[in-house]
Amino acid sequence: MHNEALREKKGFIFDLDGCIYVGNRPVQGAREAIGMLREGGKKILFLTNNSTKTPKEYMEKLAGMGIEVCEHEVMTSSVATAMYLKRLGGGDCFALGEQGLVKALQGEGFRVLGTEEARRATYVVCGLDMHLTYEKLAAACHAIQNGARFIATNTDPRLPLEEGYIPGAGSIVEALATATGVRPTVIGKPSKRIMSIALRLLGLKSSEVAMVGDTLKIDMAAARRAGITGVLVLSGSTKVEDLEKSRIRPEVIIPSVAELQEIFAKK
Ligand SMILES: [Mg+2]
Repeated sequence: MHNEALREKKGFIFDLDGCIYVGNRPVQGAREAIGMLREGGKKILFLTNNSTKTPKEYMEKLAGMGIEVCEHEVMTSSVATAMYLKRLGGGDCFALGEQGLVKALQGEGFRVLGTEEARRATYVVCGLDMHLTYEKLAAACHAIQNGARFIATNTDPRLPLEEGYIPGAGSIVEALATATGVRPTVIGKPSKRIMSIALRLLGLKSSEVAMVGDTLKIDMAAARRAGITGVLVLSGSTKVEDLEKSRIRPEVIIPSVAELQEIFAKK
């Protein structure tokens, strides 16, 4: 894809970890690149599969790196899940997740049930729960058997940390899926569901948007499924040699988001 086609996009969706920052370290040039897009009148949305934190927490993390964003410019898989369920209809939720999930569901007017009430749930919503117990897994399992719809915020198998990875939402989702024999409705990337919600928030069509991210199977697959131009950055989990092994071919490949400054400056 030519740089000109990228410059004509009206909106940019950015993954966070591996793209804007790596852990707690900002990617060099990210702040300037975002600033430049804003000056050019581009709409921006930060989109993360991480279900544990609230948009406000991400807003504060980004502000600490000199990147000013509004709360509505950050969408987590938890927020997208709550929005998706709101459209499906009301009901009570039993959630396996952190505050980021509980607050998102409550924010859309859902009642989040305790373990003892779980069998009354309309939805079992599973994200990354760092306080998971066997009791919670058993309650979720009962609720699904009783007819609750099984929803996954995302299915990332792992959560990368500096010292190595730990089980992600997908590992917990698989425990429930294995026990119940029920496959969940997945909201987060690479599902089209979260991308449709993102486009709706931006008020743009898929052809008007580019998705910038560091993973092939999650970010670039999400872009491709949604008909959005994929921009792969090599500042996160994907290395050049991974590209040769993958069938997913992003339209644009750049070392990091800093490169966007170059692309937008060359007129
Ligand atoms: Mg990432």
